[in-house]
Formats: sequence, C-alpha cells, structure tokens
Amino acid sequence: MTQVQIKEMPDQKGFSSIKDFDIQGKTVLLRADLNVPRQNGKVTDTTRIDRLKPTIDYLTAKGAKVLILSHFGRPDGEQNPEMSLAFLAPVLEKQWAAHVAFSPDCIGDHAKDLAEGLENGQVLLLENVRFYKGEKANDAEFAKQLALLGDIYVNDAFSASHRAHASTAGIAQHLPSAAGLLMEEELNALTIALENPQKPVLAVAGGSKISTKLNVLNNLVEKVDYLVLGGGMANTFLFAIGIEMGKSLCEKDMIDEAKAVFEKAKANNCEIVLPKDVVVVTQLKENAEFQTVPADQIPTDYMAIDIGPQTISYITEKMQNCKTIVWNGPMGVFEIKPFDNGTNEIANFAAKLTQSGQTTSVAGGGDTVAALENADAAKDFTYISTAGGAFLEWLEGKALPGVEALKS
Ligand code: ADP
Ligand code: MG
Repeated sequence: MTQVQIKEMPDQKGFSSIKDFDIQGKTVLLRADLNVPRQNGKVTDTTRIDRLKPTIDYLTAKGAKVLILSHFGRPDGEQNPEMSLAFLAPVLEKQWAAHVAFSPDCIGDHAKDLAEGLENGQVLLLENVRFYKGEKANDAEFAKQLALLGDIYVNDAFSASHRAHASTAGIAQHLPSAAGLLMEEELNALTIALENPQKPVLAVAGGSKISTKLNVLNNLVEKVDYLVLGGGMANTFLFAIGIEMGKSLCEKDMIDEAKAVFEKAKANNCEIVLPKDVVVVTQLKENAEFQTVPADQIPTDYMAIDIGPQTISYITEKMQNCKTIVWNGPMGVFEIKPFDNGTNEIANFAAKLTQSGQTTSVAGGGDTVAALENADAAKDFTYISTAGGAFLEWLEGKALPGVEALKS
C-alpha cells in the first residue's frame, strides 16, 4: 500500500472529500451504485451511471487508477452469472468516455494483477460484491480483502449507504476514506432541506400507506412547520378523525398510530394539512368517470384517489410562504390519468417557487421521482434524490452506516 497524503483536514461535516487527497498514481476503490435497471440485457435507465460521471472524470483527470465496487441484484452470496456486472463495462466505457476494463472477481490475486496493470486514469470494474456472503454480513475479513486492492476508499453510493455492508462500511476501517462528489452533493442537499433548513419548512408526504412511512412522519412533525398529507396515506388520517372512507385504500388498523402523529405534531407546533376535498371514483381506470366531493362526504361505493381543487389551493397558499419544501410520496394515483392532477399542480407550484429563488426544494422516493417527472417538474426542483431506501431512512432521522463509516 502506498502512503496517502491528506492535503486538508476534513471540514465540520466530519468526513473528507476526494478533493482533500492527492490521488495522482493512487489506486482508488470507488463504491458506486451500479444496480441499474436491465431488460433483455440492455440498461433501460442510465441515470445512476450518468450521475457518477463527475466523480469518474475527476478521479481519472487527476491520474488515479479507479477500481469500482458495486452490487447488482440479489445473488445472495453466490457466484451467479446472471447477476454478473461484466455486461456493464462497455456501457460505462461509452457513457463515461473512459477506458473501463472488467475483473471477474472483486478480491484476490487476479483482481490485484488486473488493478496493477492499469495505467493512471483508467478504470477497472470489479465483479458483483454480493457474490460473497461476507459483503452483506459486513465480514471483517472480506472487507480487508477488498481494501487490499487499493490505497484510498471513496464512497459515492449514498443509495446503498443505509446498509452496513463490507463495501459500504467495513472497508472504511482499513483505508483512508472519503465521500465522492455525488455523495457530497446528496448530503449537502439533505442537510439544507432538513438538518439546517431555512424556515418555514413544508413537508409533503403522500403515497399509498402510512405503515411503511410511520417513522418518516414522526420525524417530520418534529422538524417542519407544515406537514401536508395526501395520497392513500391521508385516507388513514381522515379515517382516524372519524371520516368514513368508502372503498378508499385505508389502513384501519393504524388509527392509533395516526392519532399519535397528530398529538406529536401538536406538541411540536407543526400544522398537519389534510385533504379538504377529494376526487372519487367507483372504478380505478384511465379516464374513469369521477366526482369531486368534500373529504367528509365520500359516498360508500367510491374511493378517494386524488386531492381536489380546494385542497390544492390551500396547499399552494401555505407553500407560498415557505423557504424549504421536502417531498416524499405522490398526492394521488398519479399513474392513472387524470388522477395525477393534484400531484402535478402541487409539484409545478413548488417548481415555480424554486425557480423564482424563494424556495429550496428536495424530493426523493422511487414513485415520487416518477410522479415529479410525469408532472414535468423534477428538472426545476433544487435536488431530486434517486436513493429510494436511503432517502427514506434519512427522512426518518436515522444515521446511515455508510456515511458514519466515513467519519471515523
Ligand atoms: P415512494 O415510492 O415515492 O416512496 P410510495 O411507494 O409510498 O411512494 O407511494 C406511491 C404509490 O401510492 C403510487 O403507486 C400511487 O398510485 C399510490 N397512491 C397514491 N395515492 C393513492 C390513493 N389515494 N389510493 C391508492 N393509492 C394511492
Ligand atoms: Mg414506492
């Protein structure tokens, strides 16, 4: 292992940036999230690859040898050729316009030889780290074997950092460690949105169920001034205050939890905004006949699938005064038109406020990203996090093991 010089001390965040290291001629082990969607052998969405490009450009331009660690699928600790990362090397080469070779193993002598054969500025993609059981087990010996391949560890996989695995956590104990550019960008955006936000802060929480997001809601009510509830989640809250929800998606066994969220919000001076009117249908299908009714007058045979116009104006009125907006979960069944209307209206309003410079807006969640793109608003938000599970755990206020590991 070659000696690595740290040029500057880490800042108050507690971890180093790749810019703090002199990386010329060094071998950098870069943890990336290349768990990209694939259909018939082709990558169907290159977002994750494209977002890594600035880090790759930086490292290669500075003359580092870059070894990429990633998982792909769920091979459960077995060498499964169907989940090999080999198919990605040519894709990366094209998207990054860099020289990318492939190593059929992520540890061991052969991988070491291939790494040593790299020229400065070249990239070596290592085989799926989840081919070894030691990865998910955060096994100390496996982490050490990974570390043996490089001089510096860089984590640029925020989206995998809610897991304490060997390539996201254990490895950092063996090498000088830093956050990559994408990781830094993500952490900065999240800090601006919730840890150190400009007030007032408004959070939008929607989606299907409260059971999956209870911890998120309980954390948000402590931190934000307004919590706007929409989507199926709002149905459960309406039910909890005694409203009949007809055939709506509603978690009747979650009433106590919903009531506890109301109580906690009250204690923290957080205003909970519930739908005042809703769009209802008898059948959930494209262009289904619909009605708009007050939220407390849902007919028995109907289900609430979007927020109505009165609710939209109330939410936008509240948003108008806010400096920060955090968003997870659509306001309705946005996949079926025109029931994307509520989500679209709110999203476009938040986008407009962001573009005017008044508001910082941060959103994340698998369906949320799709919903904001459907609204054509994603591009105008301050930051869109593509880290599904990690974004949610961060919204829950949890420390992420992959981030914590960089701090030690
Ligand atoms: P994310 O993936 O962004 O965290 P969720 O998975 O929690 O979001 O929620 C998204 C899902 O919620 C969408 O499939 C959407 O159709 C559904 N949904 C939103 N509103 C309703 C509603 N009123 N009734 C039933 N499903 C809803
Ligand atoms: Mg989802």
